[in-house]
Amino acid sequence: VTYDASGAAEFRSAVDRGAAIWNESVDGVELRPAASGRRADIRVLADNGWPRALPGPLGSGTVYIGRQAVNQGYDTVRISSHELGHILGLPDRKPGPCSSLMSGSSAGVSCTNPYPNAAEKAEVEENFSASVRASVPAVRSAAVGG
Ligand SMILES: [Zn+2]
Repeated sequence: VTYDASGAAEFRSAVDRGAAIWNESVDGVELRPAASGRRADIRVLADNGWPRALPGPLGSGTVYIGRQAVNQGYDTVRISSHELGHILGLPDRKPGPCSSLMSGSSAGVSCTNPYPNAAEKAEVEENFSASVRASVPAVRSAAVGG
């Protein structure tokens, strides 16, 4: 899937890092920057609110890297990979420990872990393998003439 972080302002490199972390962590999906002029599956924007994701169909949607959390001290790479996790089909798991990416802000501002845990990786792999299966047309066996 492609992403466009051109609207992510000062968080652009954190978003690139978050995408790279997902690429290191799972095999079933790869996040690549969209070619210029091409519509991206994922749009990433900076704003002054709380970070959030508006997921579309699996692997698409809009992510907001909100300065409200950054100003409180939350880590920008953890925010980026957490919000991208929503786009990859993961729900919030709050409250939760720092070892969980989807525990989000509930792990506290001191938590800078940007990596999904084993269960979160497995869930993304399953989401994308299910979506590939669903998009493969059923193969009809040829009728054998009698
Ligand atoms: Zn979340």
